Amino acid sequence: MILVGLTGGIGSGKTTVAKLFLNLGIPVFFADQEAKWLMQNSLSLKAEIINAFGEMSYLNGSLNRTYLAHIVFNDKTRLNELNQIVHPVVKAHFKTWLLKQKSDYIIYENAIIFEGNSASDFDLIICVTDELESRIDRVVKRDHTTRQQVIKRIENQMDDAQKIKKSDFVVKNDSKINLKKAVLKIHNEILRHFIK
Ligand code: ATP
Repeated sequence: MILVGLTGGIGSGKTTVAKLFLNLGIPVFFADQEAKWLMQNSLSLKAEIINAFGEMSYLNGSLNRTYLAHIVFNDKTRLNELNQIVHPVVKAHFKTWLLKQKSDYIIYENAIIFEGNSASDFDLIICVTDELESRIDRVVKRDHTTRQQVIKRIENQMDDAQKIKKSDFVVKNDSKINLKKAVLKIHNEILRHFIK
């Protein structure tokens, strides 16, 4: 089975693209969503996060996203520390999930495939990109957050030019694109050229 990593900066549209692969019948592992779920529901992960970031990391049992975001998006070392705690747990869940899949290929959707040095886990990488301003606008609208907060998160991610160089397929998710068509084209190319 071919493992395809799907990545892109915040607000690029990777989840939207991943859902289009899902519509084509391709199994998708949504690693960013899984990480959020595990941070809320895995007792051992919760304990590790509290150990590293303090009791304030959870408020009445719920992940204190504002507190954690304030720490990690102002300090790259702490962001790496959090990723190093969460990533192995997500990876273990992915391995279990993968065993249950029956498909020529699967998609692993994650914002930090390159930043987390996990590109080598995949046979192919798809990168979703768009202009910085459009990405910022999308996230501000979707999350009801501020420009400054979105920019802070973007500053912690690798820039698109570097990601594009390291990717096998690029989806430029701008206003001109027919996203459904672009996804179908990649899907057909994967089936034609990479599935034996
Ligand atoms: P994040 O890294 O923050 O999870 P993402 O890269 O997964 O972001 P999405 O959640 O897919 O991005 O897209 C951000 C927002 O922009 C969503 O509300 C989505 O519906 C919208 N969006 C993405 N692409 C398009 C498009 N081509 N046309 C219209 N809306 C779009």
